Amino acid sequence: MALIVQKYGGSSVGDADMIRGVARRIGREKGRGTDIVAVVSAMGDTTDDLIELATSVSGGAPDPRELDLLLSTGELVSCTLLAMAVRALGYDAVGLSGFQAGIRTDTTYGRARISEVDTSRMRKELEEGNLVIVAGFQGVTDEMDVTTLGRGGSDTTAVALAAALGAQRCEVYTDVDGIYTADPNTVAEARKLDEIGYEEMLELASYGAKMHPRAIELGAFYDVPIYVASSRNETPGTLIHGGARKGMEQRVKVTGIAHDLNVAKITLQGVPDRPGIAAAVLEPLADQAISVDTIVQNASVENLTDLSFTVTRTDAAKALEVVKPVAEEVGARALTADNGVSKVSIVGSGMQNAPGYASRMFRALADEGINIDMITTSEIRITCIIGDDRVKDAVRCLHRAFQLEREE
Ligand code: ASP
Ligand code: MG
Repeated sequence: MALIVQKYGGSSVGDADMIRGVARRIGREKGRGTDIVAVVSAMGDTTDDLIELATSVSGGAPDPRELDLLLSTGELVSCTLLAMAVRALGYDAVGLSGFQAGIRTDTTYGRARISEVDTSRMRKELEEGNLVIVAGFQGVTDEMDVTTLGRGGSDTTAVALAAALGAQRCEVYTDVDGIYTADPNTVAEARKLDEIGYEEMLELASYGAKMHPRAIELGAFYDVPIYVASSRNETPGTLIHGGARKGMEQRVKVTGIAHDLNVAKITLQGVPDRPGIAAAVLEPLADQAISVDTIVQNASVENLTDLSFTVTRTDAAKALEVVKPVAEEVGARALTADNGVSKVSIVGSGMQNAPGYASRMFRALADEGINIDMITTSEIRITCIIGDDRVKDAVRCLHRAFQLEREE
């Protein structure tokens, strides 16, 4: 029998009515002859509420072990209630905690990683004809302590179970109906995609249905197709998979436009052009776990050069602090941070070897009078750093230039 893992997010199981609605969906699928393992998140804002309670009673710093045990109860509530609702419809169902479902993790409370899934209990329940409902976001250590996987971790649970069980696919039901070609709040013509590759999804994940990047990486690694759709209607969603645009030679296509306002540019002016400078600047940032994105070094004039890189705006102050001693040591003329920049990217697989895309992007921005500050490319995207004030214009003009409003 075909096996599908479904995941329902907290906003899809917010109250008793919604839980009954999900139960009907699962029951219907089962009625079509599909085996179902359903993973649920905690109802609505339960996790936030529990964290608030824990913070309040503990004077600000809850013990990580107790906190994880506490937070795991949120998913136990929705899991057991859903199992009851499914039974009320006349289907056999069993609710399992992460522990009962065989999910083993390491001991990193608050962001544990799954080490192994022992699927024997789930398989036994499926063989007996049960619908299996699993509490997401949790597992257990070798010492039988309950852990949680980090905020949004139920996505990871669902994909991990799909991989471990060899399910046909993992379906993620949420309150939006798929992944869009751009942020629909910025571009009115943004269109829902029928399909998207894993890597592209990682770049566009913030537009439309939000999925945890870790779950997408896991899906890519184990080649689990992930279908993202709304739990509120039957509108077709977006399939995230690795086989997109298969062919002897992959055809390049821009899938969507991504943008990011959380960017700051740090510049060291007039640093000596000699081996070791970039390393000296970037090493202390790495030591502080500040990730650096775009890096640009200019041609040097009289052996002095400018070095610019971007970090998230959130990290900017800390990055300045970390780089300051290095800047002084190497005798840089100035060290500046600019919070007024943003990133805009065209995303699509196979772009690195297709120069036409970059020129089309630059032409579109030029025609809009948008100045490009820095440029980076990767296999699947071309990114320009531009001024904050023009981001929306940039996204719109690129969406138009690559004709993303049209179905191909
Ligand atoms: N309930 C957890 C959270 O809110 C896990 C999840 O929703 O996936 O982060
Ligand atoms: Mg949640």
